[in-house]
Amino acid sequence: MPRSYTPKYSHKTFDGIDVLIVSGEVKKFNLRIRPDASVRLSVPSSVRPAQVDAFILDHLDWIKNTVLKTKQKTSANKPSKEEIARDKEILSRLLPALFAKYEPILKVQCTDWRTRYMISRWGSCNVGSGKITINTELAHLPKFCLESVVVHELCHLRIRSHNSEFYALMESVYPKWREARIYLNTHPPRR
Ligand SMILES: [Zn+2]
Repeated sequence: MPRSYTPKYSHKTFDGIDVLIVSGEVKKFNLRIRPDASVRLSVPSSVRPAQVDAFILDHLDWIKNTVLKTKQKTSANKPSKEEIARDKEILSRLLPALFAKYEPILKVQCTDWRTRYMISRWGSCNVGSGKITINTELAHLPKFCLESVVVHELCHLRIRSHNSEFYALMESVYPKWREARIYLNTHPPRR
């Protein structure tokens, strides 16, 4: 029986997921989720459509999970200018109350604060000028993380370095800082 080696392309949709089916390229089923989250299934030219459907249905849970994960990975990239602007807006609504709450407790005064997208730090404090910078990425995390970073930076106005005294102060003012640190370490800024 003569065999064609020119692949044939077709599409099928399962639960809203589009699957590109390439027939005639391979000897065995070959299922791939590509980096753009599209689904490609190569099948031998000899298989019947019903076999293709059965194969996809067998793997549908895996396909859905992998497509979702791939999409999440792609959307976890560096935020756009528009997103950063939105994050700044969110934080500018939350931060004044946090500074107002903790400045009297710590008996310090932050002279000025700003928000900025940063890759490698959640916040910074210029001890000399009393200016504090907060990472815009905190707009996407639970509020206790933002609160912990604000307390951390304000503590620097009292104690410059991360010594035991510093952490004792953190502990007395915001014990949840330990939980926040774990959360922050496992949810780094998008980049
Ligand atoms: Zn610090």
